[in-house]
Amino acid sequence: MPQHRRKPKPQPASSSRANYRPPDGSWASSAANRKTMQANRSRDTRPELAVRSAVHARGLRYRVAVRPVRGVRRSADLVFTRARVAVFLDGCFWHGCPDHFQLPATNPGYWGPKIAANAARDAETDALLAAEGWTVLRFWEHTLAVEAATRIEGVVRERLAALGRQPGERTASPPRPGRPVTTAAPGRSR
Ligand SMILES: [Zn+2]
Repeated sequence: MPQHRRKPKPQPASSSRANYRPPDGSWASSAANRKTMQANRSRDTRPELAVRSAVHARGLRYRVAVRPVRGVRRSADLVFTRARVAVFLDGCFWHGCPDHFQLPATNPGYWGPKIAANAARDAETDALLAAEGWTVLRFWEHTLAVEAATRIEGVVRERLAALGRQPGERTASPPRPGRPVTTAAPGRSR
């Protein structure tokens, strides 16, 4: 995979997207935006929890914040291993939502390229996972949880059906991610 090096950030080394705090005199352009951004400080944001809860209620099970593909250093928010579906719940600020992103008045020269880089990285992530046979779903954090859950459920069940399995069914050896499932022998009729 292509190397991805993080650029130095004007933030403490231990800082990350998860715990970034806006400076005083916040760049949040409105009270509502500020509230949304503040909610992004923790990994388990309310929108994310709502989606996870809605998906769980539909009987689907998933892993949280893990790398779908070994060796590809990208974590998805919900990972359906057997179905090979990776779900990303993108923060409206951090990922540049067309409806809600507003360039902060403070330090726009930093934030513009930063958010653009995040978006580029998202696109790269999608390509990397797709190349490994994964279906990638992305939702903005402003998406209603029930809508996201409906879409997720549809895609996951479709993928499972294509694999000839039911969602709850366990198998001794699920297909390894990153490997096409090869069943056909030469000359085999179907
Ligand atoms: Zn949005």
